[in-house]
Amino acid sequence: MSRRVSILGATGSIGQNTIDLIARTPERFEVVALTGGRNVTRLAADARALGAQVAVTAHDDLLDDLRAALAGSGVEAAAGRAALLEAAARPADWVMSAIVGVAGLAPGLAALEQGATLALANKESLVTAGPLLMQTARRAGARVLPVDSEHSAVFQALVGEDIAAVERVILTASGGAFRDWPLADLAHATVEQASAHPNWAMGQRITIDSASMFNKALELIETREFFGIDPDRIEVLVHPESLVHALVGFRDGALMAHVGAPDMRHAIGYALNWPDRAELPVARLDLAEIGQLRFRAPDVARYPALALARGVMDTGGLSGAAFNAAKERALDHFIAGRIGFTQMSGLVEQVLDTLSSDRRLTDAEITLDTVFEIDHLSRAGLDRLL
Ligand code: NAD
Ligand code: MG
Repeated sequence: MSRRVSILGATGSIGQNTIDLIARTPERFEVVALTGGRNVTRLAADARALGAQVAVTAHDDLLDDLRAALAGSGVEAAAGRAALLEAAARPADWVMSAIVGVAGLAPGLAALEQGATLALANKESLVTAGPLLMQTARRAGARVLPVDSEHSAVFQALVGEDIAAVERVILTASGGAFRDWPLADLAHATVEQASAHPNWAMGQRITIDSASMFNKALELIETREFFGIDPDRIEVLVHPESLVHALVGFRDGALMAHVGAPDMRHAIGYALNWPDRAELPVARLDLAEIGQLRFRAPDVARYPALALARGVMDTGGLSGAAFNAAKERALDHFIAGRIGFTQMSGLVEQVLDTLSSDRRLTDAEITLDTVFEIDHLSRAGLDRLL
């Protein structure tokens, strides 16, 4: 029987890798919805090729373009926020959550509410509203499967294990584009330089977040929320080769590592075929040729975002939503050339300091409304600092 699948953020890096896998065995899948942003040409071409029920662009003004691109295909065209939520809520067995940013939260929740298994690339969902996402899944009897490579690695290392026997989780990090730059040069790093990842091909925003390690900061929180592991048991290790994706340490001292090529189709394919392992078109490692794997502790001066994430985990509540929003806004300003690379972490820290006296951060219930309230407050707070 074929499985009904939808892809939220189909035109992005994760979305395209997901389509690559699905298109290899189309008889196994029935594509329900594909969603995207401004690239309606790509969206329409994929929707046609996969025979999707509906294609949705997030932008109302692009509805006519999308309709024209889908003319005669039998694929429905829709646009805007409400249409995006409606597409996410269409009955499906498996939904890929691959929109970038907090914009992915509500569509992911809508997919869970209709009972779909949510393959979660959108780490911002867990950072901003982890308890809400996991409760929604429990209530609906739906499952969340991690797609972030580190979290997929941890998930795989835990198969058949008792979570109570876990002593620590080690997330590896490439160190990003500037890992070997003199610290003094970081202030002048350009957007183009920050957008060149040494090992992974990803969307621009996560690539820049890898250079600043805001990505790893989000992943620390993601680990806490997804696996329920205490923050002081989660470590970060710089691993320049990006071949070991994460390690889980057990109380007998054993470390289980997930090793593989830096290709997101590993993690996407695992979530797509779970609980089975299907053959995947990823490179097989020749460890003799690779010769050595290096590890080192992250330099705290180079990556201030990591300490910020620790503070956010200590505070809990809605501070993840504040942190993510400030980070997204600081990144917008960096990409637009309004601030320098190293200013991002300082601005995010100032926003968190200002918001630290706001009782809502720790006392308010985590709902979509409160997440967006804090999100807006945090973005506005960051803008006021410029
Ligand atoms: P991307 O920028 O390549 O693609 C983002 C997708 O979301 C596109 O389809 C875009 O049209 C859509 N989108 C953007 N803003 C939107 C909005 N406001 N409303 C609706 N749709 C919108 O991003 P990506 O690199 O594929 O990352 C997607 C998610 O997966 C992010 O949360 C990222 O952190 C996570 N992730 C990515 C990778 C990777 O290898 N790229 C690895 C791990 C985790
Ligand atoms: Mg990752």
